Amino acid sequence: MMRQYELVDRVSSYDPRANEDLLNRAYVFATQKHGDQKRASGDPYFSHPVEVAGILTDLHLDTASIATALLHDTIEDTETTFGEIEDLFGREIADMVNGVTKMSLLELSSADTAQAENFRKLLVATASDIRILLVKLADRLHNMRTLHFIKSDEKRRRIAQETMDIYAPLAGRIGMHNFREELEDLSFAEINKDARELVMERLSELNEQSSDMLSEISTAVTSQLLEQGLVVEVHGRQKRPFSIWRKMQNKSISLEQLSDIFAYRIVTQSEDDCYRALGVLHRTYRFVPGRYKDFISTPKINGYQSLHTTVIGPNNQRVELQIRTREMHDIANRGIAAHWAYKDKQDEHPDIAKIEPFNWLQDMVEQLKTGETAEEFLENTKLELFTDQVFCFTPKGRLIALPRGATALDFAYAVHTAIGNSCVGVRINGLKLPFRTLLKNGDEIEVVRGENQMPLESWVHHVRTGKARAAIRHSLREREEADFVALGGQMIESLFAAEGLQADGTLLERALGVMHYANLDLLRLDVGRGDISAADVLLAVMPKKRRGRRSMFAGAMRGLIGRSSHKSAQRPAMLPLNGALYGTVVNIAQGYFPLPGDEIVGVVMMGQGVVVYPAAAPDLIEFEATPERLVAMKWDEKTQSLFASRVQMTAVNRTGSLSIITQTIADFDANITNLSFIQKSDDFCDLTVDVEVRDVNHMNQMIGAIRGSRVVSEANRVIFRADKTES
Ligand code: MN
Repeated sequence: MMRQYELVDRVSSYDPRANEDLLNRAYVFATQKHGDQKRASGDPYFSHPVEVAGILTDLHLDTASIATALLHDTIEDTETTFGEIEDLFGREIADMVNGVTKMSLLELSSADTAQAENFRKLLVATASDIRILLVKLADRLHNMRTLHFIKSDEKRRRIAQETMDIYAPLAGRIGMHNFREELEDLSFAEINKDARELVMERLSELNEQSSDMLSEISTAVTSQLLEQGLVVEVHGRQKRPFSIWRKMQNKSISLEQLSDIFAYRIVTQSEDDCYRALGVLHRTYRFVPGRYKDFISTPKINGYQSLHTTVIGPNNQRVELQIRTREMHDIANRGIAAHWAYKDKQDEHPDIAKIEPFNWLQDMVEQLKTGETAEEFLENTKLELFTDQVFCFTPKGRLIALPRGATALDFAYAVHTAIGNSCVGVRINGLKLPFRTLLKNGDEIEVVRGENQMPLESWVHHVRTGKARAAIRHSLREREEADFVALGGQMIESLFAAEGLQADGTLLERALGVMHYANLDLLRLDVGRGDISAADVLLAVMPKKRRGRRSMFAGAMRGLIGRSSHKSAQRPAMLPLNGALYGTVVNIAQGYFPLPGDEIVGVVMMGQGVVVYPAAAPDLIEFEATPERLVAMKWDEKTQSLFASRVQMTAVNRTGSLSIITQTIADFDANITNLSFIQKSDDFCDLTVDVEVRDVNHMNQMIGAIRGSRVVSEANRVIFRADKTES
C-alpha cells in the first residue's frame, strides 16, 4: 500500500500547485473512518481508496480528484456525512464524493446487461463533473484488479460482466484506452477463462518463434528514421488477450492464422515528423494496402489522433504501426483525463492548445444530436450530456430511458400499455405522488393500478412521450367505439320494446341479412353513431311497422311530456342516461343545463352519438322533419355523476356577500366551476354561478338556502342559456 508521503509526493511531482495539507488530511481522515474494516483480500479496507488515488495520479489528476478518491467510500461505508466532508474539505470535494456515492448506489439497483447502453448513459448523466466519472472508473479498475479475492463465483461473474458491458465501453468512449483494455482483460479472465488461456498459449508460442522480434523491429525502425534525422521513440507492445480474442471473433480468424499480435507506437517530436516518418517507413518496407488511415488530419470523435499503417517488416512479419506526437500519445492513453489535466496548463504546453479538447467534445454533442453515436459531452468540466433524457427504474431494477419532462404516467406506459391504462397513481422512491409528477434521474417508480381505471381525455396533457399519447388516444377511441356499440344496442332495444317486441338474437339476425352487416356489434355501432337509425333496423325485421314520421316524433316526445292523448299507442321505452356512456358518446347539448329529475330527450347526431336536450328545449322543433333521430331518454337513477347547472342571482353589493354565497353553495357539497359578475348598480349586482350538482332536488335545496341568505334578493335556476330563449 502506498504510504501517505509517497502519494503526496507523486501528486506534487506533476502538479506544483497541489494542496499537500489537504491531501494529508484526506489520507488521515479516510484511514480513521475506515478503521479496521477489511477487504475480501484481508487487507485493511483503507488500502482500496489509496490504490484508487494512486491510479488517478497516473492520470495526473488534481488535488480535488485525488482527495475524492481517498474519501470516495466514506459516505457509503462509514458513518461519515456529506456535511462533515464539506466542513473539512470544502464543497467541491463533498459534491464529488457524493457523486461517486450516488453512482455506486445506482450500481446496486441495476445490472440487466441488455440495458448496458442506458445504464452507461445514466452513469454519465449522474456524474455532474467529469472527475467523478474518472474516480468511479479508477474505483472499478482497482476492484477488478482484486476481483479474484471475492469468494462467491456468482458475485465475481456479475461484477466482471458489468465491467465488460458498462465500464470498459464507458472508458473507451471517453478515450481512456489503457483503462478500457485493462478492464476488458480482467473481465475476460473471469468470464471466459478457457478462451483467454488459449489465446495466451498461442501468444507465448508466437513469442518464442519471434523471440527478439520486438527489439529487432524497434532497432530497425529507429535507425531507419534516425538516418533521416528523425528522433523518435518506438514502443513495441503485445496486444492484450481480449483485444486479440475480439478480433478473432469479429473477423473469424483462427488462432493459427493469428499473426499480428504486436503493435508499435512511434512517438515523434512534431506533427510534421509523423508524416515524414510515415514516408520513410513506406519507402523502406512494403506496406499492406488498405490499412493506412490518417487520424491526424481527421481525428476520431473522442479526440484520438495518429497515423495508422501496416507494413511487412523484417522476417516477413506484418507489423502494425501507429505514428503520433507525444501529446497525441498521451491523449490516446489517457483520453479525457489527459484533456482535463492539460486544461489549465496551456501556457506550459502551448502545443496542447491546438487540440482544443472542448472543441472535439462539442463535435461529439453535434453528432449525438443527429443521433449517430452515443458519446459523452463535457463542457467546462461539467457533463451536460443526456440532459435531454431521464433514466428511471422499475421496482425490479429495469432501467427505463425517457425524454426529459416525462412524467410518471409516461413511465407507466413505457413499461406496458396495460399498466399505463390502469395507472391511478405512483410511488416514487417510496413516496405516494400523482402520476403527472416529473421524473428525475435514478427515480424508482412503482405504478399503482386501479381495476376500474380508464384513460381520460385529459391524460394526453400529462404525458410527454408519443408512445403514451398514442396509447391513450387508442384506448379512448376503443372505449368510444364500445360506448357507441352499447348505445346503439340500447337504442334498438328501447325502440323494439316500444313496439312490444323483444330485440333478441333471432329477430336481429334477420336484420343483419337484410342490411348486410357481418355481425350485431357492427350494426349496433352504426346505430349508436347515428349512421343508421334504430327505426331502420325495426323496418328491416318488421316491414309492416312503417309509421309516419310525424307520429314517430310524437311518440318520442310523448313519453317525456307524459300527456299521452293516444290511448292505444304504447309509451316509448326509454334509453337510460347512465354514467358509463355519459361524457363520451352521450353529451348534454351546449347551452342547456338539464338535471336528473328533468324530462329529457336525445337527438342522434351523426358521428357524435346522442345529444341530450331538456324536453322543453325550443331547438327540438328543428328535428320535427327527422323524427328517426329522436330517442326517448331517462336518467339512470343510480348514476353517481355530477351535472353542470347554472344559477342566476341578484346579490347585495357589499363586502362579504360573495363569500356568504360561495359558502352556502359549498355547504351543499356542490362544486362551483365558474362565476361571473355583472355590476348592475351601486347597491346590487347580478351573478351567474355555474355549479355541479347531483339532481333537481339537490339544486332546489341549494337555491332555497341561497334565497334564505340575507345577501341575495333573487336566485333562479337557468335551464337554458339566454341566447337559446330568443330563438
Ligand atoms: Mn470503492
